[in-house]
Parts: sequence; C-alpha cells; structure tokens
Amino acid sequence: MKLKNEHSRKLLSRNASGRIEFCEECNVVELEIGAFSIRLHAQDLAILNHLIREADFNLNFHQLEKAKTEASVASSGMH
Ligand SMILES: [Zn+2]
Repeated sequence: MKLKNEHSRKLLSRNASGRIEFCEECNVVELEIGAFSIRLHAQDLAILNHLIREADFNLNFHQLEKAKTEASVASSGMH
C-alpha cells in the first residue's frame, strides 16, 4: 500500500498565483496558493471555478460601475 505522499500527481495548471495538481488515486485536486493549500474532490473544481469566475465578473462590474459614477460626478461638477 502506497503512502499518500507517494501518489503521483498530475500538474493541471500553474501561473503566478499558484498551482493546481490532481491526484488520480485520491480523486483529489490540490490548489496551492501562496502559503495556502486547499484540497478538493475533483468534481468540486468546476464549482470552485464558477465561484471564482463569478467573483471576477462581479468585481470587474463593480469597478466599472464605480468608474462610471465617478466620471459622471466629475463631469456634472464642471459647468
Ligand atoms: Zn493521493
């Protein structure tokens, strides 16, 4: 019987924010982000992806709306 740390892992993704590996034997996806390490069931990665995508979308939307509001305040102040 293999120890958990002897499982071979497949690197799924890696960039400046961290890396994501998959352990097929555990059916677990491990996200390493800075000092944090998060383990998920493989099928939950899509749900996490949706969570992040929605947050990213809403953050951009919020910042766009804020920029619009600030632009209209600035222009209304100029008579
Ligand atoms: Zn494993």
